[in-house]
Amino acid sequence: MADRSWLGLAIRVVGLLVAATTLAWVVSTWAQVWHTKQHATNSSSLLAISFSAIGYTVQFAIGLVLMAKGDVLAKRWLRGLDARCPTCLYDIRGLTTAVCPECGAPIKPNAGVSSGTSSQGGSSAV
Ligand SMILES: [Zn+2]
Repeated sequence: MADRSWLGLAIRVVGLLVAATTLAWVVSTWAQVWHTKQHATNSSSLLAISFSAIGYTVQFAIGLVLMAKGDVLAKRWLRGLDARCPTCLYDIRGLTTAVCPECGAPIKPNAGVSSGTSSQGGSSAV
C-alpha cells in the first residue's frame, strides 16, 4: 500500500493556516465585544459582534483540532481504502481469491482477502 503519511501532514498544515489566519480576527472581535459592552447603548450591535467573535473562535478551534489531530483524521479517512482493490477500488472485503473479481488485478492477502482454508463450519444447528 502506498505511503499516505503526507495526508496527515497536509491536514496539519491546513490547520496551521486556518488557525494562523483567524487568530487576529478572534482577538480583534472579542476586543470589540468587550469595548461595545463597556460603551454601547445599542444591544443589537453587541449581539452582531458577539456572533462574529463566536464564529471566528469556532474557526480558530477547528484549525487547532486539524493541527493536533491531522494524522488521526487521515488514518480514519483512509481506513476504508485498505479494503479496496488498489486498481479499481472494488470492495474486496470477504473475498476468498487473490485476484480482484472486477478488474483481475492481484490483491495482497492481508488487504481484506480471507485465507479460504480456515473454514470451520461445524454444524451449529440444534
Ligand atoms: Zn480491481
